[in-house]
Amino acid sequence: MHIIEIYKSIQGESSFTGLPCIFVRLAGCNLRCTWCDSEYTFSGGIKMSLDEVEAEVRKLAPVKLVEITGGEPMLQERELLPLMERLLANGYTLLLETSGERPLAKVPKAVHKIVDVKCPGSGEGGTFDLKNLEALSRDDELKFVIADRVDYEFARDFTRKHGLEKQVGNVIVSPAFRKDAGPARDTANCLVDPQDVVTWMLEDGWNARLGLQIHKYVWEPMRKGV
Ligand code: SF4
Repeated sequence: MHIIEIYKSIQGESSFTGLPCIFVRLAGCNLRCTWCDSEYTFSGGIKMSLDEVEAEVRKLAPVKLVEITGGEPMLQERELLPLMERLLANGYTLLLETSGERPLAKVPKAVHKIVDVKCPGSGEGGTFDLKNLEALSRDDELKFVIADRVDYEFARDFTRKHGLEKQVGNVIVSPAFRKDAGPARDTANCLVDPQDVVTWMLEDGWNARLGLQIHKYVWEPMRKGV
């Protein structure tokens, strides 16, 4: 596998927010989101065997929550699926962060999928494979990173059109961060004010969850490896 980094930190997103978590970040992505904060994953990475990845994860004990992220992890599906099976067999709770552009049907059911459906403002709208809706359950989460009101309306309408509030465990709507974010750990770095998002959600009676990427408030927003 091509791995960018393996480290432990605090989970900054999803319903697992705030918990100690090991991050296994895979190299490579087939999308180019306008606000991407992980461009350093697009190329390179260290070639590691499954045994080596598993050993690195084990070194970060006693944390037993692992997020597989990227880049787009499903680009390395052939190696990733057996890695996930191994980690599950060893008692880890697994999260998979993916755009849902690649098929998700073969991901083990016990893995909590966090599917980042791209909104128009990302420049990658329409890349989510609708067939993946069949692979989602109450153990999975949908995330919409929004840059403006248009993205918000896309997320709200997409969720309602497909009845996803009931199908998945959580629908998360998360303000995108500026690519030129300053060092201040505050919402001035968000492309859309979280206060506006909350106002819109309450006005619409949309039962989504506001996601604030808490690692960007615990550390400076541009800090890597946290
Ligand atoms: S899918 Fe993720 S890693 Fe790939 S370009 Fe978009 S934000 Fe960046």
